[in-house]
Amino acid sequence: MALPRVKHYLVNEKYEDPGLVIELETLGDYILFDVGNINKLDRHLIKRINKIFITHTHMDHFIGFDHLLRNKLGKAQTVDIFGIAPLAENVYCKLQGYTWNLVEFEPQIIFNVKQWNEGLFEHYSLDLKKKFAKDFIKEEKADTDVIYENEFYKVRYAILDHKIWIMGYTFEYKDRLLFKKDKIKELPLKGKEFGVLKEWLSNEKNRDGTFKIQGEEYSYEFLKNEYTYIQKGMKISYITDVIYSEENKKKIVNLVKGSDVLYCEAPFLAEDREQASKVYHLTTEQTAEIAKEADVKKLVVFHFSRRYGKQTDKILQEIKQFFPNVE
Ligand SMILES: [Zn+2]
Ligand SMILES: [Zn+2]
Repeated sequence: MALPRVKHYLVNEKYEDPGLVIELETLGDYILFDVGNINKLDRHLIKRINKIFITHTHMDHFIGFDHLLRNKLGKAQTVDIFGIAPLAENVYCKLQGYTWNLVEFEPQIIFNVKQWNEGLFEHYSLDLKKKFAKDFIKEEKADTDVIYENEFYKVRYAILDHKIWIMGYTFEYKDRLLFKKDKIKELPLKGKEFGVLKEWLSNEKNRDGTFKIQGEEYSYEFLKNEYTYIQKGMKISYITDVIYSEENKKKIVNLVKGSDVLYCEAPFLAEDREQASKVYHLTTEQTAEIAKEADVKKLVVFHFSRRYGKQTDKILQEIKQFFPNVE
């Protein structure tokens, strides 16, 4: 059974700035979590990134915005940026750090920011043609933990404690109903009828109904069993810059539960737990505990403290004792 084509990887080495890429080539979506130093990313990829989820705007998570902007100039596009206040102000200030007097000759670039702010989602739009003025679009009650959703996937968030409030994210590619390619040919369907049938079968409410094809009635059960299969979705989570506390742990476990891959920071060795707590970060042991409790299939750790230099092995070896399927 074919899995959805989802390519995901860290932007940098584990001892460098955090950041995660999710490429959904078939959908034309290129997603970036955090914009620390992104100089290693291919500039064609940077041009294509159209969704950005920011955990918080500490420098190591946001300094790459200039590099991103520079590589985006020259191609008309819209980029959606998600996060927590004061993200819109941070984006605006970055953009206002430059002079935009020749914008009439530039292809249009629009940054749409959606930020969580005290129980509200606030929407702003910053348009190159308006010299990136910060236009307030609307606000709505944030009564859901879904910050972005389309037909194929959604991104959920949790608000976590890092001495400031920050966002943890989980990307969920949805289960999809697909036709068995060889079998479906047996039905006398034409053109748009395939889509209509698929939509009808996707809706559980039609369970007791029948579908008419060329004058003949077929039951929902029969069509679903004979001609379709479910392509399993995928869950990828991204958690970084959090203190170890009961409250954080509960929220993280709840968000990332059952992830196929959990990308989670593990900046400190277990023996340095006091330092970790002082600077609001996790240790290997704490990260492993979260992964275990959340029953994730695989753990990928990153954001190692600079105090250990480039020796990533020591941290990896330690975490392996607590959670074997880690890299
Ligand atoms: Zn931070
Ligand atoms: Zn950080």
